[in-house]
Amino acid sequence: MLRSVIPGLRRVGVGPASAPLNLNRFTAGRAISSSSLLSSSDAPHAHRNRNIGISAHIDSGKTTLTERILYYTGRINAIHDVRGKDGVGAKMDSMDLEREKGITIQSAATYCEWKSPYMDSFINIIDTPGHVDFTVEVERALRVLDGAVLVVCSVSGVQSQTLTVDRQMKRYNVPRVAFINKCDRMGANPNKCIAAMRKELRLPACALQVPIGLEEHHNGVIDVIAQQAVYFEGERGDEVVKKEVPEEYLEQVQELRAEILERLADVDDEIGEMFLMEEEPTEEQIYDAVRRCTINRSFVPVFMGSAYKNKGVQLLLDAVNRYLPSPGESTNIALDLDNSEAEVTLKNDPDAPLVALAFKLEESRFGQLTYLRIYQGTLKKGVAIYNQSTGKKVKVPRIVRMHSSDMEDVTELSAGDVAAVFGVECASMDTFTDGASNVSLVSMFVPSPVMSLAVKPKESSMSTNFSKAIGKFTREDPTLRVTVDSKTNETIMSGMGELHLDIYIERMKREYKVECETGSPNVQYKEAITRKGAFNYLHKKQSGGSGQYAKVIGHVEPLTEEEVASGKEFIFENEVVGTNIPPEFLPSCEKGALAASEKGVLAGFNLSGMKVVLTDGGAHAVDSNDLAFQLAIRYGIRQGVQAANPQILEPVMALEVEAPAEFQGSIIGGLNKKNGLIMNTDLNEDGSSVKVQADVPLKNMFGYSTTLRSSTQGKGEFSMEYKLHQAVSGDVQKDLIKAYANRFDEEN
Ligand code: GDP
Repeated sequence: MLRSVIPGLRRVGVGPASAPLNLNRFTAGRAISSSSLLSSSDAPHAHRNRNIGISAHIDSGKTTLTERILYYTGRINAIHDVRGKDGVGAKMDSMDLEREKGITIQSAATYCEWKSPYMDSFINIIDTPGHVDFTVEVERALRVLDGAVLVVCSVSGVQSQTLTVDRQMKRYNVPRVAFINKCDRMGANPNKCIAAMRKELRLPACALQVPIGLEEHHNGVIDVIAQQAVYFEGERGDEVVKKEVPEEYLEQVQELRAEILERLADVDDEIGEMFLMEEEPTEEQIYDAVRRCTINRSFVPVFMGSAYKNKGVQLLLDAVNRYLPSPGESTNIALDLDNSEAEVTLKNDPDAPLVALAFKLEESRFGQLTYLRIYQGTLKKGVAIYNQSTGKKVKVPRIVRMHSSDMEDVTELSAGDVAAVFGVECASMDTFTDGASNVSLVSMFVPSPVMSLAVKPKESSMSTNFSKAIGKFTREDPTLRVTVDSKTNETIMSGMGELHLDIYIERMKREYKVECETGSPNVQYKEAITRKGAFNYLHKKQSGGSGQYAKVIGHVEPLTEEEVASGKEFIFENEVVGTNIPPEFLPSCEKGALAASEKGVLAGFNLSGMKVVLTDGGAHAVDSNDLAFQLAIRYGIRQGVQAANPQILEPVMALEVEAPAEFQGSIIGGLNKKNGLIMNTDLNEDGSSVKVQADVPLKNMFGYSTTLRSSTQGKGEFSMEYKLHQAVSGDVQKDLIKAYANRFDEEN
């Protein structure tokens, strides 16, 4: 049976085009070895590497925390606060634009070293962006992480983006520790955050610390396993002072210790057995159990403090060292291109053949900077490597460890390392090898765009830079797509939301000096069939000269839930028995079917979620050819789709609005007007603020920030992310079909 799959997950230049992209492969691929012992094949220092991400809802303090980490690990000498008065801004936000908008939109990998009581380690922090519109950056970063820190604000708790990043981390099986930040803020409530992590994120979260004071009295934390009170003294909290647990906290500390042991006993055999035997585990045994269970994701240890007030960050770094896995403790899978893409497990071994992944591209002053994660082998400066997608051989002229905008030259990188190279042109997610092995790393989930915008440079003299910018951006970001409308000749930019596209328009201006004019934004509609529809179509043209003859029989049907869940959008299945359709024309049928799926029958939108099954057909000895079969199946599919009750779908966003409680009525009223479906309203504990969650069609969300600002006197905040494509109402569908028909008439 011939079967090809057009995945909804776009392949980003990885491996041969025919390979189905299977997200589960990678999910399955990140198996963490049950034992926390390191394999003998580990690189000499690889077990000391920690490749971590820090992810959070926007404004939880991720940038501030990263800045503090860089300070305490000695990478920077001074602390600059985000949007600080000194105008310098935090180190990790290397782009001006980010600094201005106060969000981190580009991931950067930064390298630092940390000495902890457990061991000294080398930490690569892969900075993951906080804003929902940039989830692809998060996805990419997760692909190369071994572990992560989930930052939650002690006042706001679990927020919409926390849910998004949590889902992503679960999808990639990333072991985590959590940090409850902003314990110095009014209303700080770590216990409530932990309860929300358990309830809303279903995380097996458990605090390992008790805060010493909260809000303005937040002074330090008590390490419950070590039974020590820890204070952070000196102007910048540099001096970690350990003291006895103050009397008034003894009871609380004992209670939490008992809870930790109980929770560990539930998920860890060793502690479970000791619990039954009523034996007291030693401090070391508890550490080991927390490590095992963090790595197998049955336990999420929670730490706390205030990044801004310099409290608790050093203990979080100790925890990263102690509890998160080294590269040798995760299994990574590649596809063997010489053996029908059979899965092969990579060895975290510097002496094995090189396999590396380019996970991030950045334009820098010195040319293209390519971030690489080395999965196997060693990458040496001056030595040639092969790009598996292009087959090109390139020499690596320069390898650097990055620290935001500063860098340190190194001569080699080995398995488990994350760093960057210069002078290696490639696309993001390309696999590199040393040519000895023909493998490719599997690509990853890339959502399809939900919004598009016509753009053009204001002046024609800017066109060259405009094209350059577009080329660069699309190579950097696979969720940004640029096409030219064949009818209007307009350049159409599509992406993950208004802000996503705005940022690129803005970057065009700043980095390429191109001012753009933009059309009004459009959402990406799709068409989908809702039931099975048969086709039986004969394409025949035999009036004089050489004719065309092709017959196709089969049906179309909606994809199953499992097929959709694995990221597929279109499947072509050949079930033809015999040679009624000569085998040489089967590829023509497949090609025609794919073309048919690109244009729905109702309003010309992409037909998604459809399977085409070809069961029989007919051919003519002289008049059948490639074109005849392509056309026959295109018309055949139209026939099938019409019989399969097609519908137009629109993108729907999951929206979360937070505002003082008195605005609840006007927020809900406003969302009702936008056809929003209210999913949940939640007052906080003292009833002062409200969180409203709703599903709203994206097309009704343009300009929502202005509406919300005026209806809440500027006190409301919102965030949203793409949730799904859903059928539009009958009226909207009629209007869209009419608009399409009018456009069609005008053009013809
Ligand atoms: P990000 O969006 O998650 O990167 O958050 P930022 O690091 O940009 O922080 C958002 C805001 O919260 C900034 O104004 C920070 O100064 C502030 N902030 C960060 N951490 C803390 C903290 O621990 N306590 C308090 N009170 N404010 C903080």
